[in-house]
Amino acid sequence: RKPVIAIDGYSSTGKSSISKIIAQELGLVHMDTGALYRGITYFALQNCLNRDGEINLPELFSRLNEIQLEFKPIDKELVMFLNGKDISQQIRSNEVAANVSLIACQKEVRDFLLETQREIAKKGGVILDGRDIGTVVLPNADYKFFLTASVEERTRRRFVELQSLGIETDEMSVMHNLTSRDKTDSEREVAPLRKADDAILIDNTHLSKKETIALIISHLHD
Ligand code: C5P
Repeated sequence: RKPVIAIDGYSSTGKSSISKIIAQELGLVHMDTGALYRGITYFALQNCLNRDGEINLPELFSRLNEIQLEFKPIDKELVMFLNGKDISQQIRSNEVAANVSLIACQKEVRDFLLETQREIAKKGGVILDGRDIGTVVLPNADYKFFLTASVEERTRRRFVELQSLGIETDEMSVMHNLTSRDKTDSEREVAPLRKADDAILIDNTHLSKKETIALIISHLHD
């Protein structure tokens, strides 16, 4: 049986891009679970705003059954679709980033996404990256890793990433978004961002992406 790997950690520690490459190298399926929370947030911003332009949570909860999120393989990449529409660009917007942690705090939303995440792991041969994979979603994963890095280094990485996507921003607001999301994610009641006791801690402040990947792979045996 192929392994089930959980990779959790703080924002912009490279979880998703690292997981994607490891999955390609080892022939595993990769699910970026943050994209699921971003997809719900995008739906809420499009469909569930009140008159003040704020997300109406009760309305979102009652409309969760209208949401179908899928990852479809296109050119060897998994692309995120919401009700048949490619939203892979939209979920990276500043507006989604600013609202996603509020949405991810909600028990209704987390329960709604739990089955999708567990289903994909059933047959093994998967890497899921997120915040609560090792603690809540897949507590019995074969391998668990928890990534961290200094705030300055994470800000630099996210800034470069957003620039390459053509999203206008500055380093101060990137740092503010990272730290406030990490705070909300760590302090929430449901499934807080936390290292699982049996997860391997990797601080990659001074490691390149390649070195982090090699370190993770060195822990996988059989
Ligand atoms: O990984 P990414 O930065 O795209 O995640 C966006 C947000 O989704 C996180 O800040 C967090 O609020 C939420 N999230 C979560 N649990 C996960 C993955 C993401 O709460 N497993």
